[in-house]
Amino acid sequence: MQFDIVTLFPEFFASPLACGLMGKALANGIASVNLVNPRDFTTDKHRRVDDEPYGGGAGMVIKPEPLFAAIESLAILPPRETIFLSPQGEPMTRDLFRFLASERQQLVLVCGNYEGVDERVMSIVDREVSLGDFVLTGGEIPALALVNGVMRLLPGTVGKTESLQAESFEDNLLDYPHYTRPAEFRGMAVPEVLRSGNHEKIAQWRREQQLQRTRERRPDLLDPENSK
Ligand code: SAM
Repeated sequence: MQFDIVTLFPEFFASPLACGLMGKALANGIASVNLVNPRDFTTDKHRRVDDEPYGGGAGMVIKPEPLFAAIESLAILPPRETIFLSPQGEPMTRDLFRFLASERQQLVLVCGNYEGVDERVMSIVDREVSLGDFVLTGGEIPALALVNGVMRLLPGTVGKTESLQAESFEDNLLDYPHYTRPAEFRGMAVPEVLRSGNHEKIAQWRREQQLQRTRERRPDLLDPENSK
């Protein structure tokens, strides 16, 4: 899977992409990330990427020319999808990540900054995706979240496939609680059933915990309308 990230701040991605499972997946060739800076595609001597908004108002808008040039400079590795990170986009969900991980070879992620980007850029974008109902200063954190969420679904990134199956949101349930050694810590004991060695009872306890947590924290997930 090829990720092309179009960003005015490529340095932002250096450390997160070198760490943990993402670092390993990149080192093992499971995915690759290419960072492209629209500023490198400016033609004026000040290398200007933003300008004042037509109609007035606060903030600056990223100009269309360097964004078009940066996106159009990329090699095309179909099937590809060009995504603009935006608070106005569809929410990032497990289903979207699954679709992108299994149906796409190349994701072009366009990060906005300042007041946003010139609306004409949307003519070369396939979809807009949001990290949540809040506004961040730029699209870099949402882009990184998307890269992480999609990359962990690629075969080979996460060691055991069971790890992917037993996560929150599989079967529309939250995950069950996890414990490791020591058996008692500051007066808090690991539930007896987990130390019983009885796999059937453990599985039953975990399922009950998943249902209880989901009912308490995210009852919306149990609504049949949401399981479509
Ligand atoms: N004026 C824009 C609006 O109200 O929709 C927000 C601009 S925001 C300050 C700058 C950039 O950050 C956006 O163009 C977008 O790329 C990114 N961004 C901010 N919040 C985001 C979110 N919740 N999800 C995805 N991207 C976001």
